[in-house]
Amino acid sequence: TGTKETREFQTETKQLLDLMIHSIYTNREIFLRELISNASDAIDKLRFEALTNHDLLAGNADFEIFILPDEETKTLTIADNGMGMTFAEVVDNLGTIAKSGTKAFLEKMKDSGAGSAGELIGQFGVGFYSAFMVAKKVTVITRAPGQPKGIRWESAGDGTYTVEECDKDSRGTAIILELQDEHCSAEHPAENFLNRFTLQNLVKKYSDYIRYPIKMNFITEEKPRDADGKIIEDAPAAQSVEVKTLNSMTPLWTRNKAEITKEEYHQLYKNLFLDWEDPLEIIHSKVEGAVEYTTVLFIPAHAPFDFYQREASSGIRLYSRNVFVMDNCKDLLPEYLRFVRGLVDSPDFSLNISRELLQHSSQLQKVGKNLEKSLLKTLESMLAKDRPKYETFWKEYGRAIKSGVYADFQSREKLQDLLLFPSSQSADGLTTLADYVSRMPDGQTLIYYAAGKDRSAVERLPQMELLREKGIEVLYLLDRVDEFAIDALREYKDKKFQSISRGDLKLDGVDTPEAKQETDKLAKDNEALLNAVKEQLAGKIAEVKISSRLKSSPVCLVSGDNGISLSMEQILTEMDR
Ligand code: ADP
Ligand code: MG
Repeated sequence: TGTKETREFQTETKQLLDLMIHSIYTNREIFLRELISNASDAIDKLRFEALTNHDLLAGNADFEIFILPDEETKTLTIADNGMGMTFAEVVDNLGTIAKSGTKAFLEKMKDSGAGSAGELIGQFGVGFYSAFMVAKKVTVITRAPGQPKGIRWESAGDGTYTVEECDKDSRGTAIILELQDEHCSAEHPAENFLNRFTLQNLVKKYSDYIRYPIKMNFITEEKPRDADGKIIEDAPAAQSVEVKTLNSMTPLWTRNKAEITKEEYHQLYKNLFLDWEDPLEIIHSKVEGAVEYTTVLFIPAHAPFDFYQREASSGIRLYSRNVFVMDNCKDLLPEYLRFVRGLVDSPDFSLNISRELLQHSSQLQKVGKNLEKSLLKTLESMLAKDRPKYETFWKEYGRAIKSGVYADFQSREKLQDLLLFPSSQSADGLTTLADYVSRMPDGQTLIYYAAGKDRSAVERLPQMELLREKGIEVLYLLDRVDEFAIDALREYKDKKFQSISRGDLKLDGVDTPEAKQETDKLAKDNEALLNAVKEQLAGKIAEVKISSRLKSSPVCLVSGDNGISLSMEQILTEMDR
């Protein structure tokens, strides 16, 4: 070596670079996240190796990542004092695509056509090459500890790169991006990657929890002051440089639970999910074993106003070793828990796997199962220990839980004890199914319910009279989805649900054999009357029967044993419209 060599990129790399440069992709800012995460990885690597070979540190264990915007040269440099690369490593790592994530990306590209490149880049962490989304030219200057010289790698992303030896004082890597014009123009600050505030915000957004300080120089110019403290206007301004650390480094969730204040959790929640209200509930847990992760989950105080109309968007963010991986991870939690916000940080979530693959990974599924369990446990204990709080929760999210009962077959059992209903037992309280059952008198075998649009509508149902008289409690299903949930459950603790306006009531003493004989006899005697009514209402009703369930009302409408209920019929008609 010693001379400058020009080499060709591997074919796949060429394809990838081409995509980076030419795809119309709006989220180019992620390049910064990628380069910072590489810098952090390189420091991790050095720290790890230094455990057994302390000489590698050469006295410098102040690890840091520096971001250096330079207006004059229109370059942005990301520098670290990590492991660096040898000549062979540079050629291997930056000339070929060895990583499975990037390979997967290219595979996917072949399947779905080049048109989808923009979308796909966002979904895959495309690593180092993402630098070419914002740079005309990328220069890497790197030195591995113990190497006499540094290596300089350079490419304009045009199919070839150069490598040569160079001087470099200290170990580590500097990535120098010669920015494309649109990325260093003052006209579009959000796309201007020389703008210190833009950079600061990006670090906050994507890399706040990187464990090494990410530093940047802030330059201020100030004119000197006279003895009275007044600014001397005609004196030349003095420049002072202030080095600021942009990231907060210790992610809240890696800290010891006992040391975190409620206020800090609230702040994290508000920062991440842009809410102005404190959350109703916080769950922070760290799990080690077959799957390893740390999670902080929040139940927001209020459901978004359009929560029940719009398509479910889940608010779980994924991190991998403190590096942000993705937002709104679907498939982590079941749909009925979609109101939960929070984050999961796991070393098992690879940064470079596509979002789509990640969402279907078995690791993620295992984590999801655990999260579901711990959320349900939290809700159960809230219900048992803090009923007012649980009722607040229920008011906001009860419908989501009920939707789990009727739409998610596997969750039915787990959710039945979280359900609350108004009932005839108290004028304003809600009851659980367990409490209803505990109040059932001996001999009552069914759980009775009545559906209607509100309390008074239900209480006016002719059928209620008899039940009231017999002292039998009736659940009131006043929410339009209640009946779907009850129908899906069919029974609770071996007690079947029975609508008071559907089929036979099977009330003790009412449905005795003698009583049945009597109604049968009445039916025979009045056959002519029943037929006449049936004829009159032909097409509107299926059957006219003598009933034992009425007290003072002469007639009531009921549904057949197997027919759909009246209120369900109402909902279906509404949906049809
Ligand atoms: P990944 O980070 O998933 O391995 P990247 O495309 O981001 O993939 O980086 C490719 C490789 O280049 C890394 O695996 C690493 O070996 C090397 N590399 C990139 N940046 C640095 C750096 N700052 N210091 C040392 N090595 C680096
Ligand atoms: Mg990387």
